[in-house]
Amino acid sequence: MKVAIIGAGPMGSGIAQVFAQSDEVEKVYLCDIKQEFADAGKAKMKKGFDKRVEKGKMSAEDANKILDKIIPGLNSQATDPDMVVEAVLEKMEVKKSTFKDLQENIVKNENCIYATNTSSLSITEIATGLEKPVIGTHFFNPAPVMKLVEVIAGLTTPDDLIEKVKDLMVRLGKTPVQVKEAPGFVVNRILVPLVNEGIFLYEEGVSDIEGIDTAMKLGANHPMGPLELGDLVGLDIILAVMDVLYNETGDSKYRAAPLLRKMVRAKHLGIKTGIGFYDYSDGKKIPVDKSKTGINY
Ligand code: NAD
Repeated sequence: MKVAIIGAGPMGSGIAQVFAQSDEVEKVYLCDIKQEFADAGKAKMKKGFDKRVEKGKMSAEDANKILDKIIPGLNSQATDPDMVVEAVLEKMEVKKSTFKDLQENIVKNENCIYATNTSSLSITEIATGLEKPVIGTHFFNPAPVMKLVEVIAGLTTPDDLIEKVKDLMVRLGKTPVQVKEAPGFVVNRILVPLVNEGIFLYEEGVSDIEGIDTAMKLGANHPMGPLELGDLVGLDIILAVMDVLYNETGDSKYRAAPLLRKMVRAKHLGIKTGIGFYDYSDGKKIPVDKSKTGINY
């Protein structure tokens, strides 16, 4: 089969790798708005493979076999895929217009499956106004490593499409869990409020950054504490999901911690900007110390 991945950011590139690793897949179009963005997605994948080859965890032959299937380019190259997985930025209007353009102007295969990797938006709304149905395939980061894919049915997603996509995910080595469309689906509905609650605890002075993370690691056997998890995911993503949960339900239990909003406004987003609850400068990871940094968390 041929697959088109739309958006060559961390998620799109990871999903492209998942498909390219399957013997069933002959070609993966990795598409972005600029050729250089698509090339960068493939280059990052190659860098990861080079390291694994160096460590003897992968043969150079296997790495090349996967890389040869990945064709970086613009969306316009995706004329004949059997499946499209959209992983552009998390904005409804961008997702809707991208699918419209693909369905009306680019993809010629009438039987193509259209999937979105959205982590919080309504599948039903994405599909409204389109000729072909859309299904949610929510991969987790990093996509080649994480086993779970939430397979999400919108109001208009046909049952046979859900079964087809679940079967395909199993063949790709993933474990699909079928969920109905609901804000945050399953994982983010539970996990993101947990991070938010950790931020409330810190803001209230109940414990310090390391204290809160250590408590959850040792007391609940979580591999990571809530604050370091927030830094890893990106505090902007945590805030966006909290706002979706709150706006969709109107339930005050989903209100974002005021400190979370302030940190996002300051671009203290975690690992991706070098500072969040921890300071990642010089390749280190040190809890932000107010007395040393002057940061008024
Ligand atoms: P990102 O913003 O880092 O990357 C998105 C890429 O899409 C960029 O390279 C951008 O240039 C490209 N793009 C934008 N508009 C486009 C268009 N019209 N056509 C083609 N390419 C376009 O995003 P990401 O972190 O890779 O996430 C992508 C999607 O996956 C989002 O919907 C996000 O919510 C979801 N998701 C993210 C994570 C995560 O941990 N980052 C996990 C699960 C799901």
